[in-house]
Amino acid sequence: MNTRTKYKECAKWMKELSILSSVGGLLAWDQETMLPPKGTMGRAEQSAILASVIHEKFIDSQMGKLLGNLARNSKGLTPLETVNVRERYRDYKKAITLPPDLVKELAHTTSLAQSAWIDARKKNNFRAFRPYLKKIFDLKKRQAEAYGYSDSPYDPLLDDYEPNMTTQILDPVIEQLKTGLIPLAKAIRESEISIDDKVLRRRYDVEKQKTICHDIMQALGVDGTASRLDQSAHPFCVGIFSPYDVRITTTYDERDLLHALYSVIHESGHALYEQGLNKKHIGTPMSESLSIGMHESQSRFWDNIIGRSKPFLYFLLPNLKAKYPGILKSMSSETFYRIINKVEPNLIRIKADEVHYNLHVILRYELEKDLIEEKIEVVDLPEMWKFKMEEYLGIQPKNDKEGVLQDTHWALGLIGYFPTYLLGNLYAAQLWYKIQRDIKNTDSLITKGEFGPILSWLRKKVHLQGRRYPVNELIKRVSGKDFSAQFFLDYLKIKYNEIYRIK
Ligand code: MG
Repeated sequence: MNTRTKYKECAKWMKELSILSSVGGLLAWDQETMLPPKGTMGRAEQSAILASVIHEKFIDSQMGKLLGNLARNSKGLTPLETVNVRERYRDYKKAITLPPDLVKELAHTTSLAQSAWIDARKKNNFRAFRPYLKKIFDLKKRQAEAYGYSDSPYDPLLDDYEPNMTTQILDPVIEQLKTGLIPLAKAIRESEISIDDKVLRRRYDVEKQKTICHDIMQALGVDGTASRLDQSAHPFCVGIFSPYDVRITTTYDERDLLHALYSVIHESGHALYEQGLNKKHIGTPMSESLSIGMHESQSRFWDNIIGRSKPFLYFLLPNLKAKYPGILKSMSSETFYRIINKVEPNLIRIKADEVHYNLHVILRYELEKDLIEEKIEVVDLPEMWKFKMEEYLGIQPKNDKEGVLQDTHWALGLIGYFPTYLLGNLYAAQLWYKIQRDIKNTDSLITKGEFGPILSWLRKKVHLQGRRYPVNELIKRVSGKDFSAQFFLDYLKIKYNEIYRIK
């Protein structure tokens, strides 16, 4: 077989796998949005069978050999084909490294842990959840050993979500963030400015909220003929067959003007990434998102950096006034900007503002890394949680429900996932730094609701690049600077020093 024939074989296999996965995506989307309660059992079986079909097809040793061959000798391949081979071979090697019994045990344990976590949280009983958590961390340590590592056993776990990211790169960034964020959060707590945001909890007709959400999606540039907006318990985005079929969801709350609106902006950011993926390379790594962190950077870019900026609120408020004149008639854009950006420490991560959010993530990162590195034990978690909350946010949970039991990630076995949220914030700020230098009049464009030039920039520099470069390298190529927390810290300081009149 010559190189061309080998590559054709591989490309066909990749495409088939990606189509099978897209069916899995559709099953999952349907489960969250449409499935009648009695369909749950059948859906679990459909999903499990499909997952095992995909796994079997993926670990096909014949294909592994072909990929390995092409990876070692890529003469005759185009540069982008070389990327496809390199990245899929990387995925393949990770997939075959794990012993099947470990994979099975993880799936079994996390499915039991899910219901145990829901129950423990309801009863505020961490002790009942402890054995599950201990088992999960033990299995994840075994997973790390199977993958292998040179520095920290946390590295290969992190790599599952953020390829090529390591604790060695991350730790100094985290220290820099802590040094900047903890004093900023404290200065805001001690500021004399207090912001009254009661107006956000008046009664906002849900049908009107739905119209606003659809309008915003469209304004941001989401292609309505390649997407849907539906309802589910928690907002999410899934690329079913990107870039042609991307679904997002939200929930509506009559007593909350912001929840649906900003979750739709957030999920639209994810959808824009999926819709911007390379049409010529569907089914291959060149048409896949780079990492979870980069995906999150796209949602946080629109949700926070654009969506909570002053120019955006000058654009948004007249639209809201047209729908709710009775409540918002006399609201000024300046006041609205301050209300939207109110900072207040909250015990719950998903309710955190821009200033506190990363501190929540840092706390979780430090705890899960210490557990994997065997520096602490599961039994220590509630106390460590309280201690760090006090140190970083100045508040303490009264119980484990508002503390160590609040997130589902550990019960799902997602160890190494939390840092991707933080990385998303940092990538977004570093991209924004460069966008403001490349596009001269961003403020006036945003005020007019013209997001096209910004989206085109992201399309060209990030979305169309697929998995061509490791994240760090892409960030450096695109922004001209090494990856750093400084861009995010500068962005926050300028914004919040003004809002809270900090000297
Ligand atoms: Mg997200």
